[in-house]
Amino acid sequence: MSVCLSCSSNDSNLLYDFGELPAVNKFFSQDDVDSEKKYPLVLNYCKVCFLVQIEEVPPAEDLYQDYHHKSSASAGNVDHLKSFKDFIVDNFDLKTNILEIGSNDSTLLNLLNEEGFDIIGIDPAINLNQDDKNVISSFFNTEIVEKISNNYGKFDLIFGLNVFAHSKDFLDMFLAANELLKTDGTFIFEVAYADKTILKGNFDTIYHEHVCSYTLTSLNKVLSIAGFKIIDAYEIDTQGGSLRLMCKKLSTNLKTNNRFTKLLDGEKKLGYSEVEFYESIAKSIQTKVDKINQFFEALYEKNKKILFIGAPARGVVVINLVKSLNKKNCIVIDDTKEKQNKLFPGTHIPVTQWEKVDFGNYDIAIILSWNYSDYLLDKLTSYGFKKDVYTLIPDIKKIS
Ligand SMILES: [Zn+2]
Repeated sequence: MSVCLSCSSNDSNLLYDFGELPAVNKFFSQDDVDSEKKYPLVLNYCKVCFLVQIEEVPPAEDLYQDYHHKSSASAGNVDHLKSFKDFIVDNFDLKTNILEIGSNDSTLLNLLNEEGFDIIGIDPAINLNQDDKNVISSFFNTEIVEKISNNYGKFDLIFGLNVFAHSKDFLDMFLAANELLKTDGTFIFEVAYADKTILKGNFDTIYHEHVCSYTLTSLNKVLSIAGFKIIDAYEIDTQGGSLRLMCKKLSTNLKTNNRFTKLLDGEKKLGYSEVEFYESIAKSIQTKVDKINQFFEALYEKNKKILFIGAPARGVVVINLVKSLNKKNCIVIDDTKEKQNKLFPGTHIPVTQWEKVDFGNYDIAIILSWNYSDYLLDKLTSYGFKKDVYTLIPDIKKIS
């Protein structure tokens, strides 16, 4: 068994073995699909700190060399960044000097700059930030700490949104944040909350990019290892359910807020620090995977023609676990231009656009972007699709 990425214990248990999966955000064309690679996807949990984590992480360049995710690309995300900006404006004065970890295309950095804050970003995506003089083009880790503090000193406030679950070096990132923070400085970050995903058996957020699925229980441990005390915790709606944590250095005199204590106690009651709980989750994942396979086997035997709606990362995970699928009978529609005229990762079903589909040819539609199912169902109806429409997660459900 592997060593825990957080507490370094050797005591981890298997939660679920997904087999080999491709990189979920890499779409190949017919010409270069032979170069697609698959990687083991094994999900473990640590029996000491209860962090849910992937056993083996593919090389970062395999996952991210073609990375084109932009903060500003989704309206929902920009709205969230605006609300985070308001949170900073409400809680900090303009003398606060700020470091943003994972500043991406500087959407949030610019919003705070416009408010008058002194803010520096750090992000490895050179293609997104090469012209921005307020952004350091680098991964964030303890190796870069000295260079940053020599140039900018230490910070009153350091924050990072959705960056600490994506790297196996998250502990080193937390340590680096601690080193760069002033003694009475504040560290804030947001991560997806496993309470809303894998710990409900919804396994479709598990892929190679998501190294960790955090609970407050597991975060409390890793943050104390990195020299932080959690002062406050908020549950927020982004990414289908996330945590926003406010931390200070361990030496702080500040007391922990009740919100945090309540959430942590709630996790304890749910069994998040007991092996039996994770064993029950393993069973519930297996049950969901089995049901999905039975569903597709019935379609396969009847030679049904399937229209998949959406090719999100979460859909790639689910469809790659299906054993009986005749790709000649399937097509995928996705709105993202970079995915169109390419092949769905792993199964190589063609991905196309709405305008090119003859909807009368298909016997069933399955919405893979189930978090947008209302919108997509309306769109299917507007294109004249009259057959049954299903979603697969959280459970298989006929929605029309
Ligand atoms: Zn651990």
